[in-house]
Amino acid sequence: MKKYENISLLPYNTFGIDVKARLFIEYYSLDELRQVLKEHKGEQILHIGQGSNLLFTRDFNGIILHSGMARARFIDDETVEAQNGLRLDDLIAQLTDMAYCGMEKLSLIPGEVGASAVQNVGAYGVEAKDVIERVYTMDVETQEERVFTNEECKFGYRDSIFKHELKGKYIVTSVVYKVKPGEASKTREEIIQTRMAKLPTVGEVGSAGSFFMNPFVPEEKAKALLELYPDMPHFEVQSSNPQILKSSNLVKIPAAWLIEQCGWKGKTLGGAQVWHKQPLVIVNANNATPEDIIALAAQVSASVKEKFGIDIHPEVNYI
Ligand SMILES: Cc1cc2nc3c(=O)[nH]c(=O)nc-3n(C[C@H](O)[C@H](O)[C@H](O)COP(=O)(O)OP(=O)(O)OC[C@H]3O[C@@H](n4cnc5c(N)ncnc54)[C@H](O)[C@@H]3O)c2cc1C
Repeated sequence: MKKYENISLLPYNTFGIDVKARLFIEYYSLDELRQVLKEHKGEQILHIGQGSNLLFTRDFNGIILHSGMARARFIDDETVEAQNGLRLDDLIAQLTDMAYCGMEKLSLIPGEVGASAVQNVGAYGVEAKDVIERVYTMDVETQEERVFTNEECKFGYRDSIFKHELKGKYIVTSVVYKVKPGEASKTREEIIQTRMAKLPTVGEVGSAGSFFMNPFVPEEKAKALLELYPDMPHFEVQSSNPQILKSSNLVKIPAAWLIEQCGWKGKTLGGAQVWHKQPLVIVNANNATPEDIIALAAQVSASVKEKFGIDIHPEVNYI
Protein backbone atom coordinates (compact mmCIF):
# COMPACT_ATOMS: atom_id res chain seq x y z
CA MET A 1 0.00 0.00 0.00
CA LYS A 2 1.18 3.53 -0.74
CA LYS A 3 0.25 6.57 1.34
CA TYR A 4 0.86 10.22 0.49
CA GLU A 5 -0.01 13.19 2.68
CA ASN A 6 -1.05 16.60 1.41
CA ILE A 7 -0.68 15.49 -2.19
CA SER A 8 -1.69 17.39 -5.35
CA LEU A 9 -4.58 15.72 -7.16
CA LEU A 10 -3.49 17.16 -10.51
CA PRO A 11 -2.41 13.75 -11.90
CA TYR A 12 -5.61 12.17 -10.60
CA ASN A 13 -8.29 14.17 -12.41
CA THR A 14 -8.64 14.60 -16.16
CA PHE A 15 -10.00 18.16 -15.79
CA GLY A 16 -6.51 19.18 -14.64
CA ILE A 17 -7.60 20.87 -11.41
CA ASP A 18 -4.72 21.42 -9.00
CA VAL A 19 -6.22 20.85 -5.57
CA LYS A 20 -4.78 18.86 -2.66
CA ALA A 21 -5.91 15.84 -0.68
CA ARG A 22 -5.08 15.46 3.00
CA LEU A 23 -4.30 11.77 2.48
CA PHE A 24 -4.10 9.63 -0.66
CA ILE A 25 -3.93 5.86 -0.29
CA GLU A 26 -3.41 3.31 -3.06
CA TYR A 27 -4.08 -0.31 -2.11
CA TYR A 28 -3.05 -3.47 -3.94
CA SER A 29 -5.22 -6.22 -2.43
CA LEU A 30 -8.60 -6.73 -0.78
CA ASP A 31 -6.81 -7.29 2.53
CA GLU A 32 -5.10 -3.90 2.23
CA LEU A 33 -8.42 -2.26 1.35
CA ARG A 34 -10.04 -3.91 4.40
CA GLN A 35 -7.19 -2.68 6.61
CA VAL A 36 -7.46 0.92 5.31
CA LEU A 37 -11.22 0.99 5.83
CA LYS A 38 -10.85 -0.34 9.38
CA GLU A 39 -8.10 2.14 10.26
CA HIS A 40 -10.00 5.12 8.90
CA LYS A 41 -13.49 4.19 10.01
CA GLY A 42 -15.78 7.22 10.19
CA GLU A 43 -13.45 9.48 8.20
CA GLN A 44 -14.46 11.11 4.94
CA ILE A 45 -13.46 8.75 2.12
CA LEU A 46 -13.68 9.19 -1.64
CA HIS A 47 -12.75 6.26 -3.86
CA ILE A 48 -11.62 7.44 -7.26
CA GLY A 49 -10.71 5.75 -10.51
CA GLN A 50 -8.98 7.79 -13.17
CA GLY A 51 -10.77 10.95 -12.03
CA SER A 52 -12.35 11.33 -15.47
CA ASN A 53 -15.80 12.22 -14.22
CA LEU A 54 -14.86 14.41 -11.28
CA LEU A 55 -14.72 18.14 -10.74
CA PHE A 56 -12.72 18.89 -7.62
CA THR A 57 -14.09 22.21 -6.39
CA ARG A 58 -11.66 22.64 -3.47
CA ASP A 59 -8.94 20.87 -1.48
CA PHE A 60 -10.20 17.50 -0.25
CA ASN A 61 -9.88 17.27 3.50
CA GLY A 62 -10.44 13.52 3.67
CA ILE A 63 -8.92 10.36 2.26
CA ILE A 64 -8.74 9.64 -1.44
CA LEU A 65 -8.62 5.90 -2.11
CA HIS A 66 -7.37 4.42 -5.35
CA SER A 67 -6.97 0.83 -6.39
CA GLY A 68 -3.72 -0.52 -7.72
CA MET A 69 -5.44 -3.86 -8.50
CA ALA A 70 -5.56 -4.11 -12.27
CA ARG A 71 -5.82 -7.73 -13.39
CA ALA A 72 -8.42 -9.55 -15.43
CA ARG A 73 -9.14 -13.26 -15.79
CA PHE A 74 -11.55 -15.40 -17.76
CA ILE A 75 -14.03 -17.25 -15.58
CA ASP A 76 -15.21 -19.23 -18.59
CA ASP A 77 -15.52 -18.65 -22.30
CA GLU A 78 -18.36 -16.15 -21.77
CA THR A 79 -17.38 -14.19 -18.69
CA VAL A 80 -14.35 -12.19 -17.67
CA GLU A 81 -13.70 -10.73 -14.21
CA ALA A 82 -11.72 -7.50 -14.08
CA GLN A 83 -10.37 -5.79 -10.98
CA ASN A 84 -11.54 -2.25 -10.18
CA GLY A 85 -8.27 -0.45 -10.98
CA LEU A 86 -7.89 -1.78 -14.52
CA ARG A 87 -8.53 0.84 -17.20
CA LEU A 88 -11.70 -0.14 -19.03
CA ASP A 89 -10.13 0.56 -22.42
CA ASP A 90 -7.09 -1.62 -21.58
CA LEU A 91 -9.50 -4.46 -20.85
CA ILE A 92 -11.35 -3.92 -24.14
CA ALA A 93 -8.04 -3.74 -26.04
CA GLN A 94 -6.93 -7.05 -24.52
CA LEU A 95 -10.26 -8.72 -25.25
CA THR A 96 -10.23 -7.47 -28.84
CA ASP A 97 -6.67 -8.77 -29.32
CA MET A 98 -7.81 -12.15 -28.04
CA ALA A 99 -10.77 -12.08 -30.49
CA TYR A 100 -13.50 -11.56 -27.90
CA CYS A 101 -16.30 -9.10 -28.55
CA GLY A 102 -19.24 -7.46 -26.81
CA MET A 103 -17.58 -4.44 -25.22
CA GLU A 104 -15.92 -2.82 -28.25
CA LYS A 105 -18.45 0.04 -28.49
CA LEU A 106 -17.23 1.23 -25.09
CA SER A 107 -13.72 1.63 -26.52
CA LEU A 108 -11.70 4.66 -25.45
CA ILE A 109 -14.11 5.72 -22.71
CA PRO A 110 -11.70 6.94 -20.04
CA GLY A 111 -11.82 5.52 -16.56
CA GLU A 112 -11.44 2.30 -14.66
CA VAL A 113 -13.49 -0.86 -14.28
CA GLY A 114 -14.84 0.08 -10.83
CA ALA A 115 -16.40 3.31 -12.05
CA SER A 116 -17.81 1.66 -15.19
CA ALA A 117 -20.35 -0.04 -12.91
CA VAL A 118 -20.97 3.01 -10.74
CA GLN A 119 -21.52 5.30 -13.71
CA ASN A 120 -23.05 2.76 -16.10
CA VAL A 121 -20.84 4.22 -18.84
CA GLY A 122 -22.16 4.13 -22.34
CA ALA A 123 -21.53 5.08 -25.93
CA TYR A 124 -22.85 4.24 -29.40
CA GLY A 125 -25.96 2.51 -28.10
CA VAL A 126 -24.20 0.22 -25.60
CA GLU A 127 -24.08 0.74 -21.85
CA ALA A 128 -22.04 -1.09 -19.22
CA LYS A 129 -25.30 -2.57 -17.92
CA ASP A 130 -25.67 -4.51 -21.19
CA VAL A 131 -22.41 -6.37 -20.55
CA ILE A 132 -22.15 -6.48 -16.76
CA GLU A 133 -23.18 -9.79 -15.22
CA ARG A 134 -22.36 -9.04 -11.59
CA VAL A 135 -20.41 -6.62 -9.43
CA TYR A 136 -18.20 -7.50 -6.45
CA THR A 137 -18.01 -4.92 -3.67
CA MET A 138 -16.76 -4.26 -0.15
CA ASP A 139 -18.96 -2.60 2.45
CA VAL A 140 -17.13 0.52 3.67
CA GLU A 141 -18.63 0.24 7.17
CA THR A 142 -18.33 -3.51 7.86
CA GLN A 143 -15.70 -4.54 5.27
CA GLU A 144 -17.93 -7.47 4.30
CA GLU A 145 -17.86 -8.51 0.68
CA ARG A 146 -21.13 -8.42 -1.24
CA VAL A 147 -22.02 -9.44 -4.77
CA PHE A 148 -24.62 -7.42 -6.68
CA THR A 149 -26.42 -9.00 -9.62
CA ASN A 150 -27.04 -6.82 -12.67
CA GLU A 151 -30.65 -6.24 -11.52
CA GLU A 152 -29.55 -5.32 -8.00
CA CYS A 153 -27.32 -2.58 -9.42
CA LYS A 154 -30.49 -0.74 -10.60
CA PHE A 155 -28.74 0.58 -13.67
CA GLY A 156 -30.19 3.57 -15.50
CA TYR A 157 -28.87 6.24 -17.84
CA ARG A 158 -25.39 7.02 -16.39
CA ASP A 159 -26.82 5.78 -13.14
CA SER A 160 -26.74 2.92 -10.64
CA ILE A 161 -27.61 2.14 -7.05
CA PHE A 162 -24.04 3.16 -6.14
CA LYS A 163 -24.87 6.78 -7.01
CA HIS A 164 -28.03 6.90 -4.89
CA GLU A 165 -29.21 4.63 -2.05
CA LEU A 166 -25.75 3.16 -1.60
CA LYS A 167 -23.63 6.21 -2.48
CA GLY A 168 -20.31 5.99 -0.65
CA LYS A 169 -21.38 2.80 1.13
CA TYR A 170 -19.73 0.19 -1.12
CA ILE A 171 -16.46 0.05 -2.99
CA VAL A 172 -16.66 -1.82 -6.26
CA THR A 173 -13.75 -4.24 -6.17
CA SER A 174 -14.26 -6.15 -9.43
CA VAL A 175 -16.76 -6.50 -12.23
CA VAL A 176 -17.78 -9.59 -14.20
CA TYR A 177 -18.55 -8.77 -17.83
CA LYS A 178 -20.21 -10.98 -20.44
CA VAL A 179 -18.19 -11.48 -23.61
CA LYS A 180 -18.26 -13.85 -26.55
CA PRO A 181 -15.75 -15.08 -29.07
CA GLY A 182 -15.79 -12.82 -32.11
CA GLU A 183 -13.87 -10.30 -34.17
CA ALA A 184 -14.24 -6.71 -32.95
CA SER A 185 -11.09 -4.96 -34.12
CA LYS A 186 -12.71 -3.11 -37.03
CA THR A 187 -15.54 -1.68 -34.89
CA ARG A 188 -13.08 -0.79 -32.14
CA GLU A 189 -10.85 1.05 -34.58
CA GLU A 190 -13.79 2.97 -36.10
CA ILE A 191 -14.99 4.02 -32.68
CA ILE A 192 -11.54 5.14 -31.62
CA GLN A 193 -11.22 7.25 -34.79
CA THR A 194 -14.68 8.82 -34.34
CA ARG A 195 -14.07 9.62 -30.69
CA MET A 196 -10.62 11.08 -31.36
CA ALA A 197 -12.08 13.41 -34.00
CA LYS A 198 -14.79 14.71 -31.69
CA LEU A 199 -13.68 14.51 -28.08
CA PRO A 200 -10.73 16.09 -26.26
CA THR A 201 -7.83 13.72 -25.78
CA VAL A 202 -7.17 12.93 -22.13
CA GLY A 203 -3.74 14.26 -21.17
CA GLU A 204 -3.84 16.95 -23.87
CA VAL A 205 -7.00 18.92 -23.09
CA GLY A 206 -8.51 18.87 -19.60
CA SER A 207 -12.14 17.76 -19.42
CA ALA A 208 -14.46 15.25 -17.81
CA GLY A 209 -16.16 14.28 -21.06
CA SER A 210 -19.84 15.14 -21.41
CA PHE A 211 -20.47 17.73 -18.77
CA PHE A 212 -24.28 17.39 -18.90
CA MET A 213 -26.64 14.47 -19.24
CA ASN A 214 -29.14 14.43 -22.08
CA PRO A 215 -32.56 15.54 -20.83
CA PHE A 216 -35.79 13.56 -21.21
CA VAL A 217 -38.95 15.60 -21.69
CA PRO A 218 -42.63 14.65 -21.83
CA GLU A 219 -43.92 13.93 -25.34
CA GLU A 220 -46.20 17.01 -25.30
CA LYS A 221 -43.26 19.27 -24.47
CA ALA A 222 -41.21 17.75 -27.30
CA LYS A 223 -44.12 18.27 -29.74
CA ALA A 224 -44.44 21.93 -28.76
CA LEU A 225 -40.70 22.46 -29.23
CA LEU A 226 -40.78 20.69 -32.61
CA GLU A 227 -43.32 23.22 -33.85
CA LEU A 228 -40.83 25.98 -33.05
CA TYR A 229 -37.71 24.01 -34.02
CA PRO A 230 -38.67 21.43 -36.67
CA ASP A 231 -35.03 20.32 -37.05
CA MET A 232 -34.61 19.51 -33.35
CA PRO A 233 -33.10 16.02 -33.01
CA HIS A 234 -35.18 13.84 -30.70
CA PHE A 235 -35.37 10.17 -29.81
CA GLU A 236 -38.13 7.96 -28.55
CA VAL A 237 -37.00 6.49 -25.26
CA GLN A 238 -35.96 2.84 -25.27
CA SER A 239 -38.37 0.90 -23.15
CA SER A 240 -35.54 -1.18 -21.65
CA ASN A 241 -34.38 1.73 -19.51
CA PRO A 242 -35.89 1.18 -16.02
CA GLN A 243 -35.23 4.79 -15.02
CA ILE A 244 -37.41 5.96 -17.88
CA LEU A 245 -40.15 3.38 -17.47
CA LYS A 246 -41.25 5.18 -14.33
CA SER A 247 -42.92 7.83 -16.48
CA SER A 248 -44.15 6.94 -19.93
CA ASN A 249 -43.87 8.76 -23.26
CA LEU A 250 -40.63 10.59 -22.73
CA VAL A 251 -38.45 11.96 -25.50
CA LYS A 252 -34.69 12.36 -25.29
CA ILE A 253 -33.24 15.57 -26.69
CA PRO A 254 -29.47 15.83 -27.14
CA ALA A 255 -28.12 18.38 -24.65
CA ALA A 256 -25.35 19.18 -27.17
CA TRP A 257 -27.96 20.49 -29.64
CA LEU A 258 -29.70 22.60 -26.98
CA ILE A 259 -26.38 24.11 -25.87
CA GLU A 260 -25.29 24.82 -29.42
CA GLN A 261 -28.61 26.54 -30.19
CA CYS A 262 -27.95 28.85 -27.25
CA GLY A 263 -24.73 29.92 -28.97
CA TRP A 264 -22.27 28.41 -26.50
CA LYS A 265 -20.05 26.39 -28.84
CA GLY A 266 -16.45 27.59 -28.41
CA LYS A 267 -17.39 30.28 -25.83
CA THR A 268 -15.07 30.83 -22.87
CA LEU A 269 -15.43 32.05 -19.32
CA GLY A 270 -12.12 32.58 -17.55
CA GLY A 271 -10.05 29.51 -18.38
CA ALA A 272 -13.07 27.28 -19.08
CA GLN A 273 -14.49 26.73 -22.55
CA VAL A 274 -17.42 24.98 -24.20
CA TRP A 275 -15.54 22.60 -26.52
CA HIS A 276 -15.63 23.83 -30.09
CA LYS A 277 -16.08 20.34 -31.56
CA GLN A 278 -18.69 19.04 -29.10
CA PRO A 279 -20.64 21.55 -27.00
CA LEU A 280 -21.62 18.94 -24.43
CA VAL A 281 -18.04 19.00 -23.20
CA ILE A 282 -16.55 21.76 -21.04
CA VAL A 283 -12.77 21.93 -21.25
CA ASN A 284 -10.00 23.44 -19.19
CA ALA A 285 -8.70 25.64 -22.01
CA ASN A 286 -6.36 27.83 -20.02
CA ASN A 287 -5.64 27.10 -16.36
CA ALA A 288 -9.32 27.08 -15.47
CA THR A 289 -10.21 27.30 -11.82
CA PRO A 290 -13.08 25.20 -10.45
CA GLU A 291 -14.99 28.49 -10.13
CA ASP A 292 -14.59 29.16 -13.89
CA ILE A 293 -15.98 25.72 -14.75
CA ILE A 294 -18.83 25.93 -12.25
CA ALA A 295 -19.80 29.43 -13.46
CA LEU A 296 -19.69 28.43 -17.14
CA ALA A 297 -21.76 25.31 -16.50
CA ALA A 298 -24.31 27.33 -14.53
CA GLN A 299 -24.62 29.91 -17.32
CA VAL A 300 -24.99 27.20 -19.97
CA SER A 301 -27.76 25.41 -18.09
CA ALA A 302 -29.52 28.70 -17.25
CA SER A 303 -29.62 29.73 -20.90
CA VAL A 304 -30.95 26.30 -21.98
CA LYS A 305 -33.66 26.65 -19.34
CA GLU A 306 -34.51 30.16 -20.52
CA LYS A 307 -34.63 29.34 -24.25
CA PHE A 308 -36.20 25.87 -24.16
CA GLY A 309 -37.67 25.55 -20.66
CA ILE A 310 -35.59 22.40 -20.14
CA ASP A 311 -33.40 21.60 -17.13
CA ILE A 312 -30.07 20.01 -17.94
CA HIS A 313 -28.11 18.40 -15.13
CA PRO A 314 -24.37 17.75 -14.78
CA GLU A 315 -23.12 14.23 -15.39
CA VAL A 316 -19.86 15.27 -13.75
CA ASN A 317 -19.52 14.64 -10.00
CA TYR A 318 -18.77 17.86 -8.12
CA ILE A 319 -16.48 17.07 -5.17
C1 LIG B 1 -12.72 12.75 -22.80
C2 LIG B 1 -13.75 12.01 -22.02
C3 LIG B 1 -14.71 11.27 -22.69
C4 LIG B 1 -15.70 10.57 -21.99
N1 LIG B 1 -16.63 9.84 -22.69
C5 LIG B 1 -17.57 9.14 -22.03
C6 LIG B 1 -18.52 8.34 -22.74
O1 LIG B 1 -18.50 8.24 -23.97
N2 LIG B 1 -19.47 7.67 -22.02
C7 LIG B 1 -19.50 7.73 -20.64
O2 LIG B 1 -20.37 7.08 -20.04
N3 LIG B 1 -18.61 8.45 -19.95
C8 LIG B 1 -17.66 9.16 -20.60
N4 LIG B 1 -16.75 9.93 -19.90
C9 LIG B 1 -16.85 9.99 -18.42
C10 LIG B 1 -15.95 8.97 -17.70
O3 LIG B 1 -15.11 8.33 -18.60
C11 LIG B 1 -16.80 7.91 -16.97
O4 LIG B 1 -17.70 8.51 -16.08
C12 LIG B 1 -15.92 6.90 -16.19
O5 LIG B 1 -16.70 5.84 -15.73
C13 LIG B 1 -15.20 7.52 -15.03
O6 LIG B 1 -14.27 6.57 -14.57
P1 LIG B 1 -13.12 6.93 -13.55
O7 LIG B 1 -12.40 5.68 -13.24
O8 LIG B 1 -12.32 8.06 -14.06
O9 LIG B 1 -13.99 7.35 -12.29
P2 LIG B 1 -13.87 8.69 -11.40
O10 LIG B 1 -14.16 9.87 -12.26
O11 LIG B 1 -12.61 8.68 -10.64
O12 LIG B 1 -15.10 8.46 -10.41
C14 LIG B 1 -16.42 8.55 -10.87
C15 LIG B 1 -17.38 8.18 -9.73
O13 LIG B 1 -17.25 6.78 -9.45
C16 LIG B 1 -16.87 6.58 -8.08
N5 LIG B 1 -15.95 5.45 -8.06
C17 LIG B 1 -14.83 5.30 -8.80
N6 LIG B 1 -14.28 4.09 -8.57
C18 LIG B 1 -15.07 3.47 -7.67
C19 LIG B 1 -15.04 2.19 -7.04
N7 LIG B 1 -14.10 1.29 -7.30
N8 LIG B 1 -16.02 1.89 -6.15
C20 LIG B 1 -17.01 2.78 -5.88
N9 LIG B 1 -17.08 4.01 -6.45
C21 LIG B 1 -16.14 4.34 -7.34
C22 LIG B 1 -16.25 7.88 -7.64
O14 LIG B 1 -16.32 8.05 -6.26
C23 LIG B 1 -17.08 8.89 -8.41
O15 LIG B 1 -18.30 9.10 -7.75
C24 LIG B 1 -15.73 10.61 -20.57
C25 LIG B 1 -14.74 11.34 -19.89
C26 LIG B 1 -13.77 12.03 -20.59
C27 LIG B 1 -12.71 12.80 -19.85
